[in-house]
Amino acid sequence: MTRFISGRTPTTNAEAFERALVVTPGGVNSPVRAFRSVGGTPVFLASGHGPYVVDVEGTEYVDLVGQWGPALLGHAHPDVIAAAHEAVARGLGFGASSTGEVELAELVLDRLTLGEGASERRGIEKLRLVSTGTEATMTAIRLARGATGRPLLVKFAGHYHGHSDSLLSEAGSGIATLGIPGSAGITPETAAQTIVIPYNDEDALAEVFALHGDRIAAIITEAAAANMGVVPPKPGFNRLLGETARAHGALLIVDEVMTGFRSTAAGWWGLEEAAGSGYDADLTTFGKIIGGGLPLAGLGGRAEILDLLAPLGPVYQAGTLSGNPVAVATGAAMLRGAGPEVYDRLPRTARTIADGLSAALSAEGVAHTVAWAGSQFSIFFRPDAPQNYAEAQDQHTWRFGAYFHAMLEHGVSLPPSVYEAWFVSAAHDDAAIERVLAAAGPAAKAAAAATPAL
Ligand SMILES: *Cc1c(COP(=O)(O)O)cnc(C)c1O
Repeated sequence: MTRFISGRTPTTNAEAFERALVVTPGGVNSPVRAFRSVGGTPVFLASGHGPYVVDVEGTEYVDLVGQWGPALLGHAHPDVIAAAHEAVARGLGFGASSTGEVELAELVLDRLTLGEGASERRGIEKLRLVSTGTEATMTAIRLARGATGRPLLVKFAGHYHGHSDSLLSEAGSGIATLGIPGSAGITPETAAQTIVIPYNDEDALAEVFALHGDRIAAIITEAAAANMGVVPPKPGFNRLLGETARAHGALLIVDEVMTGFRSTAAGWWGLEEAAGSGYDADLTTFGKIIGGGLPLAGLGGRAEILDLLAPLGPVYQAGTLSGNPVAVATGAAMLRGAGPEVYDRLPRTARTIADGLSAALSAEGVAHTVAWAGSQFSIFFRPDAPQNYAEAQDQHTWRFGAYFHAMLEHGVSLPPSVYEAWFVSAAHDDAAIERVLAAAGPAAKAAAAATPAL
């Protein structure tokens, strides 16, 4: 007699969630999926195609979550799926090196090299593959400490770098969604090694280096913050971070897990290079798009630093699933499929959608602003764009639940938190955009009618 196995797959969202609540904490395997900040029953998705996802009840939504990034070409893109199938047929993994790892690294390095000859600029020189963004940033910090022999880390309030111990202080993403300062289970000793300062604040940066400069191993920053809603760096801020770190013998870690291969072919770094505000990161982390939808992430940087990793150097890092052949094949297909037309299309699609949503909110008299970082945007329920976490939190967050659910009812799936960026894909065509714009009016009405919880 089995207690849990019913042999029947749930066919409604409610049944799926009810059963999930019994066997997984909060019914989810990643907190934001639980809809806690927007209320209601989370949808359980069964499939995706192009700009759409379909839940277990057969309801189709225009998707603006995009797997939180990887679905750059839309869901189930034929070339990406074909690459996965081909790789799967050869075996799921070997725990030994495979040629796909080399080819993916070459594709990435090629994108992170701009210009030619003497004017050539390289964003990274070598790449180590891991399985999640969390591992990439965790390893970057260990490398920075190993390279400098120093203990402290500087991070910005509201930035999210995955869920390793030293990076959860005042983090964005789910930590922001749940409105908590950090996480239980982290020792005070560990927490004390991370100094959290406000984003886009040159004075706070100068002060922390004046006080602790010779003990700081690294500054870690999102290339453009997008886990407290979208809050781009001030022009020149990333460059200042690099210069400040270098002046004190510390390293700059730029986290491009979300922006990498999305902002431009060369990520946020490429965008700033083109804008004349280029900066030098010592280490750069990648995730999301790099795996094409499968668990894969990477850590790149200057060769002399990357070569401190085992087996060449004293900084240990390893992974049973690292460089998995199916994931590298999928990631390579994604990068090969993301040509100039994709990077031309994304910002235009995002602009059309955001303009429509903004006009509808204005028509209902809802105070809001659309904040941008390249082709990524999010809506803040406050009149002007925030520059840091305190300002991002100072908004009518209580409008978002009503807005979110009206969108969902009208067939549009948004990130279920006001603190997340929205993701468009190259597959969002006129029909999909039309459906979002058709939902904009009712959603704006719902946001206007919302009232703060007592
Ligand atoms: C998503 C994200 C991470 C964490 O990546 P996981 O694969 O979820 O561990 C790290 N940094 C940034 C900027 C992210 O957006």
